[in-house]
Amino acid sequence: MSAYRIVLLPGDGIGPETMSATRLVLDRVVSRFPELRLDLKSHEAGASHYRDFGEVLPDHVLTDCLSADAVLLSAIGLPDVRLPDGTEVQPQMMVGLRRAMQLHSAVRPVKLYPGVPCPLRDYGPGIDLVIVRENLEGMFASFGGGSMVGDEVATDTIVITREGTSRVVDVAFQIARRRNGRPADGKRLVTCVDKANVFRSMAFFRKVFCDVAKSFPEIEHDEVYVDAMSLLMVQRPQDFDVLVMENQFGDILSDLGAALVGGLGLAPSAEIGNERALFQPSHGTAPQIAGQNVANPIATILSAKMMLEWLGDRHDDTNCRRAAAAIESAVAALLEQGATLTPDLGGKASTTDVARAIAELIVG
Ligand code: ATP
Repeated sequence: MSAYRIVLLPGDGIGPETMSATRLVLDRVVSRFPELRLDLKSHEAGASHYRDFGEVLPDHVLTDCLSADAVLLSAIGLPDVRLPDGTEVQPQMMVGLRRAMQLHSAVRPVKLYPGVPCPLRDYGPGIDLVIVRENLEGMFASFGGGSMVGDEVATDTIVITREGTSRVVDVAFQIARRRNGRPADGKRLVTCVDKANVFRSMAFFRKVFCDVAKSFPEIEHDEVYVDAMSLLMVQRPQDFDVLVMENQFGDILSDLGAALVGGLGLAPSAEIGNERALFQPSHGTAPQIAGQNVANPIATILSAKMMLEWLGDRHDDTNCRRAAAAIESAVAALLEQGATLTPDLGGKASTTDVARAIAELIVG
């Protein structure tokens, strides 16, 4: 097997620190699984690159992202670096990358690992659900558009298509098929989260959801309004398995999900298309703690684990799958031991300490 070509985009703020930590773990994984070959190539892109060189995402970097086997990104953007129209570079770069790579579905696991404090009093048999967010349409389709009427009225248009909705709903059912169901009772369940009682676009999203669900008769499905879901995720998260939703709803509920299971420092994500995929932590650049070696690297490390899982499935490669499982076991062991944690989890360890400890726990 030739090496997988992985593009690394460390980006800005805490991004370079969490990426270095993740490389440390990946280096260990490669030494433990000698048949797994990763060709890692790092590129500069993002806000600091724009400030220094006038470009957010250079053409050669985009070309490399398009031809790579996968892209691992840590965080993009700096609040004081702005484009000429006053906006931050992060949305432009991320929406541009998603559109160019056709990353139609964002997958965000919400999993409570033993040892991690949960803000909920009663979460029964645990929290282990997946949010699947439509990633190219919905409210974000208006990015770069929208309209103003004088200084009085502004509009953005939500876009829902049958093709886009079918794609993301199909991804949600495929994920449910591979999982063990919801923690409460093991039932495989895909839940459509929408606002079908108010918006025509959302009623259509639900209709397409129900159409696609017919192809997965072995998996149960239901529908919940987004306002009710923000309540239910807090009251009884154990009753959910896979949630699928429009872009902006996914953006919001995935932060709620992260808060339930230890915060942004633990929340990974995968953005997948038919041919390509990009992996990144759910957090941003956290400029207040950048440069201090205190950021939690686990969200980026778990994103790398999702990358290996995706490569394993795509190439039917057992080494990738085993390496991914080894990373997750090491992270879970570290969290359960509770001795080496960064300050966001109540510890005193540095970013590098955590990465080294996880690397030590990796067994081949
Ligand atoms: P951006 O504008 O890039 O989204 P932000 O600081 O507004 O940056 P996040 O980076 O998502 O938003 O983080 C919000 C807060 O959560 C941070 O200020 C930080 O306190 C905390 N946080 C986020 N990621 C981490 C991490 N990996 N480790 C520790 N704390 C984190």
